[in-house]
Amino acid sequence: MKPAAFEMHAPDDVAAVVALLAEYGDEAKVLAGGQSLAPMLALRLARFEHLVDLNRVGELSGISRMDGHVRIGAMTRHFEVEQSDEVVSAVPLLSRATAKVGHFQIRNRGTLGGSVAHADPAGEQPAVCVALDAVMEVCSAEGTRHQAASDFFRGTWTTALGPGEILSAVRFPVWSGRCGFAVEEMARRSGDFAIVGVVSAVEVDPGGAPTRAAVALFGVGATPVRAGAAEAALLAGASPAEAARAAIETIDPSDDLHASGSYRRKVAAVLVERAVDKALKEAGNA
Ligand SMILES: Cc1cc2nc3c(=O)[nH]c(=O)nc-3n(C[C@H](O)[C@H](O)[C@H](O)COP(=O)(O)OP(=O)(O)OC[C@H]3O[C@@H](n4cnc5c(N)ncnc54)[C@H](O)[C@@H]3O)c2cc1C
Repeated sequence: MKPAAFEMHAPDDVAAVVALLAEYGDEAKVLAGGQSLAPMLALRLARFEHLVDLNRVGELSGISRMDGHVRIGAMTRHFEVEQSDEVVSAVPLLSRATAKVGHFQIRNRGTLGGSVAHADPAGEQPAVCVALDAVMEVCSAEGTRHQAASDFFRGTWTTALGPGEILSAVRFPVWSGRCGFAVEEMARRSGDFAIVGVVSAVEVDPGGAPTRAAVALFGVGATPVRAGAAEAALLAGASPAEAARAAIETIDPSDDLHASGSYRRKVAAVLVERAVDKALKEAGNA
């Protein structure tokens, strides 16, 4: 099928983007890498009178280090996030998770901002945002505001972005010290969306005991789920297996075409144990 007719706008700065969104309201949608939006338009699952292309807005791309954070512009492509030396060294959880997004063709076009704003419950990067307490930079005609990742993902394909707002960047806190990171997921085929996935980060003291822990699951609910009980258990000296048991107490996945909820819970337990174990070992060797 072909998409319904639309008018294409190609502004070259953020001010023009938000002015167009303010002018056209619900009839406008922004286009980033097009890897999710283009198929939805082609299949007529979505229809908009105006598309506002972000691809010429240079100020929305780029990776920079500032004040204990790495700031990544929304239009930065997945492959840049995956391969950037800055991200690989300062936010390794994000580069490793991004390497698992689709196939390389998708990562060449798809963007960090597109994935975060699209908020697919099985997406890797929203889970990393939640695990690392990332901060979302949001722009509109009214100016710029910041929102915690923990309050950004509201449901399947739904975020806290309001009318006329775009995601302009995401800021990821840098974990320094003796840290380890791991991404574990189960998908039917390489490149498919995960059925269940886990991201984990830990920091350990000189004796190898965890002093900081983050565990988030994806594919187990409408939004990424932060497993606070598992994190607390780890800080209290629990083993990865005990943390995994605590983690699955916090999820209640439902059945769908791909898997039953009970299957997802069982897989989640295995993946949390593996991810935490790997992160602890990496931290211990750091
Ligand atoms: C075969 C296939 C496999 C895939 N596998 C995975 C996978 O394993 N894991 C995964 O996470 N993703 C996967 N994806 C999705 C891919 O990561 C997309 O890149 C991503 O979902 C959307 O990014 P995009 O830049 O292409 O955004 P687009 O498709 O252009 O936009 C997606 C949505 O986000 C909105 N949007 C985009 N940018 C902004 C912004 N800056 N501010 C506000 N709204 C914005 C758009 O209006 C649209 O509603 C897959 C896609 C395909 C086709």
